[in-house]
Amino acid sequence: MNDNLTQAVTILKGIGEETAESLAEMKIHTVNDLLEYFPYRYEDYRLRDLAEVNHDERVTVEGKVHSEPSLVYYAKKKSRLTIRLLVGRYLIQVVFFNQPYLKPKLAINETVTVTGKWDQHRQTITGNELNTGPCKKVKDFEPVYALKGKITMKGIRKFINLAFHQYGHLIEETLPEAFVKKYRLLHRRDAYRAMHFPMDQEDVKQARRRLVYEEFLFFQLKIQALRKFEREHSLGLEQHYQLPQLKGFIDSLPFPLTNAQKRVVNEILKDLKSPYRMNRLLQGDVGSGKTAVAAIALYASVTAGFQGALMVPTEILAEQHAESLKEMLDPFGVRCALLTSSIKGKHRKELLLQLAQGEIDVLIGTHALIQDEVTFDKLGLVITDEQHRFGVEQRRVLREKGENPDVLFMTATPIPRTLAITVFGEMDVSIIDEMPQGRKTVETYWAKQDMLDRVLGFVEKELRKGRQGYVICPLIEESEKLDVQNAIDVHNTLTHYFQNRYKVGLMHGRLNAGEKEAVMNEFKANDLQVLVSTTVIEVGVNVPNATIMVIYDAERFGLSQLHQLRGRVGRGGEQSYCILLADPKSDVGKERMKIMTETADGFVLSEKDLELRGPGDFFGRKQSGVPEFKVADMVHDYRALETARNDASYLIESEEFWKGEEYMQLRRELEKSGVLAGEKLD
Ligand code: ADP
Ligand code: MG
Repeated sequence: MNDNLTQAVTILKGIGEETAESLAEMKIHTVNDLLEYFPYRYEDYRLRDLAEVNHDERVTVEGKVHSEPSLVYYAKKKSRLTIRLLVGRYLIQVVFFNQPYLKPKLAINETVTVTGKWDQHRQTITGNELNTGPCKKVKDFEPVYALKGKITMKGIRKFINLAFHQYGHLIEETLPEAFVKKYRLLHRRDAYRAMHFPMDQEDVKQARRRLVYEEFLFFQLKIQALRKFEREHSLGLEQHYQLPQLKGFIDSLPFPLTNAQKRVVNEILKDLKSPYRMNRLLQGDVGSGKTAVAAIALYASVTAGFQGALMVPTEILAEQHAESLKEMLDPFGVRCALLTSSIKGKHRKELLLQLAQGEIDVLIGTHALIQDEVTFDKLGLVITDEQHRFGVEQRRVLREKGENPDVLFMTATPIPRTLAITVFGEMDVSIIDEMPQGRKTVETYWAKQDMLDRVLGFVEKELRKGRQGYVICPLIEESEKLDVQNAIDVHNTLTHYFQNRYKVGLMHGRLNAGEKEAVMNEFKANDLQVLVSTTVIEVGVNVPNATIMVIYDAERFGLSQLHQLRGRVGRGGEQSYCILLADPKSDVGKERMKIMTETADGFVLSEKDLELRGPGDFFGRKQSGVPEFKVADMVHDYRALETARNDASYLIESEEFWKGEEYMQLRRELEKSGVLAGEKLD
């Protein structure tokens, strides 16, 4: 970047120390920061025919005052000023809140220009700008910027104007001319100008289009470069698995693999054999059969003479996986073991020793697996289930165990493609997009909370057929204590309701591992018919006889999470049901419940979730690794994202990109990010 652009804002006339401090609060330090401080919307001063204006849209109209203004004070300091205004052939109402001083300007028969929000149903404009006289149109559009501290709208507009007129000519093109031509993009400087000083909507649209593409292209270049370097610089293991043995194992499974499972297994096996290090994300909806795939991969690694590890987020899951893997792998002479934090003392010591001596082939556990004291003899493959629950740091420690093991991250939360290629852009992705045959979809209903009696009646009907059910109480994030209390209350209610007819169990995060295991075993053995639980059972739990699930306060969960929970039923041959108890207040809330009842496809739900909640919230917490863009919006600009991704992967693999003059600016962007120096992105 030109040195003049990195000068402090105080170089501009009219910006002193004090203003600079306020600008710094808005993260504006340099001239370039000012130039890149783009508006978040535009005020539209075009006069328009009200018939063409949508409800809630902002509008500017010119009209004649048709009635004496009426001024009403209420709630102590608040006021409402109302007039009738004749706009062309319409007689509408205009309201100004808390601007009583405007009254003298609104004499009958005066011509005024009003800007505000149009309420189509009430034929009313809620005004926030008033000019007396006919419209003195200076501009059609004015940019509206986010403000902080002492900076006013007028001020920021002035500063940006100044910056652009003095330094705008220094804004350099970053994209190769061929790209600008191919996509008919504005040049960078013109795009900046159009963002800040547009003549019309089309200007803004073209400017955004250019900047969005640039932003996505930079971003994709970084992650693709990272992926390339990781591939080429981290030497992995060549795992020469024994195909005949592996085939024997696959034939021993009680079912034929689905085509999707076969495809994914092949992708994984190819990675194992290659000298590159596997860094793969495996996505598959709940019940799509990821465990079988994991077992095959682990066995392959063992036949190649290596050890494998499977890491899961909860102890319940670890136990369950250990059990099913043992059942599958024991007959093939594979030694599986379970390691959790509740395995202590002598037993733990022995286990760790065996592991270090290579007497254990496959280790299953929680994050206890990545502690320092755990040493493998010859670790070849690490698989994590539900990886997004592990932090970035844990993922790194995991990858650094042993001698560059291959790593497979499995998740049942389908990640929308836009997020997958941004957040996990440096990984290879495999998708199981097919369910085993004969699986019935879970019928889902939405009931208001006051229908609880009828819902319980329905549950009882299922129980009478010999089935079991889950009742889920929501996780109240701020307080685990409240959560647990909530679950205890529901447990009491239901114990009372089912009296001596059925037994009701309770599961929550405050139970210790032994207690949890005991409850789970009782439920599996059908000693309990109903299990009241917080979301601790969200992932992986497998009790095929459970056919009904009731979810309290369902509106509090994300769609993907509801889908996860719902995946606990419908695991056997019987028709299963899920009932969402919810009284959502907002339209979005209602829409979400409706989508749940209509869609059984986890990928569709995840796309919807992203659309309704936005990328930041998708993983249910902040700092989830979702990048923030200045102009681009991952959801709405997904086409540009795809294009940029394709262009980036082409460039990264092409020779001229690394040498050509026209790509110098792009290479500089990469240099700035540190990727070329082998640093990691986070
Ligand atoms: P998830 O992907 O949710 O981890 P699981 O691996 O737990 O799914 O599989 C769910 C159920 O489907 C298990 O009972 C498993 O035995 C069964 N299953 C897996 N693959 C197949 C298949 N190809 N055909 C039939 N059933 C299968
Ligand atoms: Mg699973």
